[in-house]
Amino acid sequence: MKRIWIVVLIGLGVAGIVIILSGHQGIQIIQDTTYQYEKSIEQEFTQMKKGKTGQPLYEVYHDLPVIDVHNHSVEYFHMMESRNMNHVKSVKELWQQYGIDHTVLFGDVSEPSAIQTDRLSWRYYQEYPDLIYPSFAGIPLEKGKNGVEKVQEQLEKGYLNVGEIYAASRFSPSANVRWKGEHPYSGVLPEIYEVVAEYTTPIMLHIDPPRGKNMSYFRRALTNHPETLFIFAHGNVYTSPKKFENLLADYDNLYIDFFAGFTQYNESSQYKLRDFVPVIEKYPNQFMLGSDSGVEIGIEKSYQAMYELIDQLTPATAVKVAYQNYERLIEEQPFTKYQKNRIQELAEELMIENKTYRLNKHKANELIFELSN
Ligand SMILES: [Zn+2]
Ligand SMILES: [Zn+2]
Repeated sequence: MKRIWIVVLIGLGVAGIVIILSGHQGIQIIQDTTYQYEKSIEQEFTQMKKGKTGQPLYEVYHDLPVIDVHNHSVEYFHMMESRNMNHVKSVKELWQQYGIDHTVLFGDVSEPSAIQTDRLSWRYYQEYPDLIYPSFAGIPLEKGKNGVEKVQEQLEKGYLNVGEIYAASRFSPSANVRWKGEHPYSGVLPEIYEVVAEYTTPIMLHIDPPRGKNMSYFRRALTNHPETLFIFAHGNVYTSPKKFENLLADYDNLYIDFFAGFTQYNESSQYKLRDFVPVIEKYPNQFMLGSDSGVEIGIEKSYQAMYELIDQLTPATAVKVAYQNYERLIEEQPFTKYQKNRIQELAEELMIENKTYRLNKHKANELIFELSN
């Protein structure tokens, strides 16, 4: 009798251990960086275009997703969020009105004050992950100032974009920023190009003037770092369609941030939007739209000009330029070691078990935000 009881007790003990062990499988995190193009949107675009009856173009194309890949207004955004500003239209209201679905948001560039605006960009990304892609630009480019380590740290944390980095500047109003480069291959820039390539994160470069020595060093960067995703900030500003032809024929790791507002509304522009249409149609995978916060023309004109360009493109090209080209660069970024560890920590704290997550970098961020709440 006694023996039977012992056997039963041992049996129960083993079963208990098995249950505990199997219940303690923890979580599984799978890297998933595939990007599926939304095919139906082309047809929808055609329908939107057919429905034009003289209303503003941002209304005609309101249902077309649009990404602004170049916006400095994080400080203004912060002001709108933290004070009672009922008398002016908030940044979010403008996005809503103009149908801007996502904005690559940052603030100051290539100087110490950018460190603070980079933090703000992260803070508001946490609050509005459906509206904002966080970018950072507070990086010293001189050797010996830990610029490369800083880039790595920010990318590990979860930032999805680098820039706007002042790789060279002579004529811009911000030409005297302390951390600008001498040219696009100066200081630690080549090392930074390698790090961003490891993370598959795009880097947006300001290059002015976009000619001469600056452009030959930019070409060197594009040639020597074929895995790096370069975005040429406001690439159409003081650049001809012919110049794009030459650059894009040589480099498929080059993306053009097209500042339509400059071409359409700034009197200094030598070209019209229609002059750029053939080259955009020829390289439809490499153009994206940036507002540059409406510098010199105002943000609303900058948004309007985006639609004036979109309206002149074929449906397949329009949807790529409006959002798919940049969205792909976001979706294809893998999650980082830091993110993975953080998710595991949080899952343990919250005793989440037997769960499988398929994530890329931005989804990992969103999961971290959710689990931290
Ligand atoms: Zn710039
Ligand atoms: Zn800018």
